[in-house]
Amino acid sequence: MQGFFASSTVQQEKPVGLVPRCGACGLLKGCQSPKMKPYGKGRQGVLVVGEAPGKTEDEEGRPFIGKAGEFLRDTLDDLGIDLDRDALTTNALICRPPGNKIQDPRQIDYCRPNLINTINEFKPRVIVTLGGSALHSVLAPYWKDDIGPLERWTGWTIPLEQHWVCPTYHPSYLLRMKNPLLDKLFKKHLERAFNIEDDTPARPDLSKEVEIIYDDREAAEAILEMGRAGGFVAVDYETNCLKPEWPRAQIYSCALSNKHQTISYPWVGSAIGATGGFLQSDRTRKIASNIKMEERWTLKNFGWGVTNWNWDTMLAAHCLDNREGITSIKFQAFVKLGIPTYNANIEPYLFSSKNSPYNRIQEIEMKDLLLYGGVDAFAEREVAILQMKEMGL
Ligand code: URA
Repeated sequence: MQGFFASSTVQQEKPVGLVPRCGACGLLKGCQSPKMKPYGKGRQGVLVVGEAPGKTEDEEGRPFIGKAGEFLRDTLDDLGIDLDRDALTTNALICRPPGNKIQDPRQIDYCRPNLINTINEFKPRVIVTLGGSALHSVLAPYWKDDIGPLERWTGWTIPLEQHWVCPTYHPSYLLRMKNPLLDKLFKKHLERAFNIEDDTPARPDLSKEVEIIYDDREAAEAILEMGRAGGFVAVDYETNCLKPEWPRAQIYSCALSNKHQTISYPWVGSAIGATGGFLQSDRTRKIASNIKMEERWTLKNFGWGVTNWNWDTMLAAHCLDNREGITSIKFQAFVKLGIPTYNANIEPYLFSSKNSPYNRIQEIEMKDLLLYGGVDAFAEREVAILQMKEMGL
């Protein structure tokens, strides 16, 4: 997967390798069934990914035939699904780790090429990940932040390129927990995953979606036009700190996104006044991720607040699902739209350090900053529309 930031400020993402690093992993020699092959007919186009073969699997040379496998099979049986007929099964590690414990998380990275090769060959419509290791193996090429607790991922159906990725719990965990509520959720996640019929939506070409406008008069024209067009518009500032009241606080750029276009422009000259006019008009319904930030910066800059705020993707995300760690536009854009982390190279410049409340935004090349802000606005609008649908509005 390629990063889309083109300029020299930021590093390009490394392409994902297709050669496993068995030498570095070291598990190969210690197990009875090394490099366990995927198993099953996969008639429903579903790939189920577990953590690693256990003792029974290693002895028999087949995934999911021990206790955890039995629990998985029984749950699927209740749904009229046969694991071996309807799915293909494999694991994040295809050699059994001693004592069923992954000693070093890098082993998942070393083994990932095996999983990617399986995905490339089988071309599943749906990938079900069981537990944290499988999730990490599938998501790491796309999600560059900390994956964090499994709980925030379970139950989503993530449109990741050609596949729906459906994370759920690992059956061994459920066997340990003996919690009927978790078992019910597990069944619900599996039912949802096996019943997905739609293809994944085409992933937007983000660098084409965002129109970068350096010239302030040209930007002002485009802003006016967006104001005239009405409808839902996402608004996103990029700033050098969190609080507009701080003495050196400054907006660096702004992005607006409506149904037809996304524009991103430096905060200079006539673009500022045009944005002010746009924000005061009630013709458009404004969207933001965390309205209070954009409102506060607008108040400080113009002396008045935004007219016609209509949607906050953060609040809506929280209303729809009150788990922790899910409300940021990055997370929402990922789980709902399959937009991979687009800020990994930019983000270090946008966080303030311990020594200063100001970030290092001025070190980011303007092109990259505008692209980043534009993607934020684009994602905010797209996520907002999906949230409205989900709420039946
Ligand atoms: N647990 C897994 O994660 N995979 C198996 O194959 C068996 C048990």
